[in-house]
Amino acid sequence: MKLSPDPAALDAADPLARFREAFALPTGLIYLAGNSLGPLPLASAERVSRMVATEWGESLVRGWNTHDWFGAPARVGGKIAGLIGADPDEVLVADSTSANLYKLAVAALQARPDRKVVLSAPGDFPTDLYMLEGAIRTLGDGRRLELAEGEALEAAITNDVALLVLCQTHYRSGAVRDMAALTARAQAAGALVLWDLSHSTGVLAVDLNGCNADLAVGCGYKYLNGGPGAPGFLFVARRHQGALVSPLSGWFGHARPFAFEDGYDPAAGVARFACGTPPMLSLAALEGGVDLALEAGAGAVAAKARALGALFIDRVGDALTLECPADGARRGGHVAFHHPDAYAIVQCLISKGVIGDYREPGTMRFGLSPLPLSFSDVARAADLLVEVVRTRAYDDPSFRQRSKVT
Ligand SMILES: *Cc1c(COP(=O)(O)O)cnc(C)c1O
Repeated sequence: MKLSPDPAALDAADPLARFREAFALPTGLIYLAGNSLGPLPLASAERVSRMVATEWGESLVRGWNTHDWFGAPARVGGKIAGLIGADPDEVLVADSTSANLYKLAVAALQARPDRKVVLSAPGDFPTDLYMLEGAIRTLGDGRRLELAEGEALEAAITNDVALLVLCQTHYRSGAVRDMAALTARAQAAGALVLWDLSHSTGVLAVDLNGCNADLAVGCGYKYLNGGPGAPGFLFVARRHQGALVSPLSGWFGHARPFAFEDGYDPAAGVARFACGTPPMLSLAALEGGVDLALEAGAGAVAAKARALGALFIDRVGDALTLECPADGARRGGHVAFHHPDAYAIVQCLISKGVIGDYREPGTMRFGLSPLPLSFSDVARAADLLVEVVRTRAYDDPSFRQRSKVT
């Protein structure tokens, strides 16, 4: 008989255990939605108040220079680079993930003018597909979006593909794509590849340059714990930086923004993908989360994420249908299960102090952020989930009432 691992023993051996104290989390709550909105790092709360009181409050407009607000998007981008296998001058914090995807997709399509197809996958995160539709509409030069999955996706990578856009980790199933293989396959056909790292950054050991990646975008408020609406980031491999131009050619991406020239001259390097004035308070919060992830180290974080997932899946056993990969090497930072009453089950768990989330149709997700969570937290949550399912405690009209955001 297989013995289940003891959560207390796993906690005692956990090299990242001390990071739990770095987050503000209400007592008694087990927060398994860090894949949707990461919890608050105490250091971020401190940074933001300091910035409000002294940088904004006292330095005022001088802060752009005296506190190097100008340098923040590249500085924080350079730190994120250390988590995703990129060089510091290949990553910039800017705008939202959606806007960054649009900027890079249009720039990539303009660099491949003779190819008609933008290839992506059905069921990938909706905003990515919507932004690609918008990019194609804006260009108005006869491109079309094709969606394919699995073997059909590989077969669809032909010489007519300009750009392949994929999420590395799927937001619902948690399945991780083979970034190295798909990148190589698309590049062999002459296409560029744009990866969305939203559900990977801060939880997987992403290796962009190890995969010879072209372009990537990612999210600041999920596993980077950057706060609600934190800016996203974008990656442009150094070899592409001189050739690609942002369609949102704002003054912050200009070579000389304070020369106030009439004509647009893109800045050298990844800085040309900035658009307007960066959100400094949000950047301060994001930097606090990124610093914690760097201090923990991407490898250790990824190892703990896999172990947390294995523990959760082991304890749920056959009580629910597993929807994420059982193989930790193919799974992102959350686990997912299917149940026809998944919505009510998640609401019932929330009423008992375990916050997970629901995604249509019939999926419950539990984000296992490695820094703020202990093995004991995760074991307790999994045991409660099993109890709720077995006793049908969710079978109550109050748990079936839908709210706008779940
Ligand atoms: C969370 C997420 C986004 C978020 O986009 P926003 O512009 O920040 O709203 C984009 N893509 C994927 C795959 C995501 O998981």
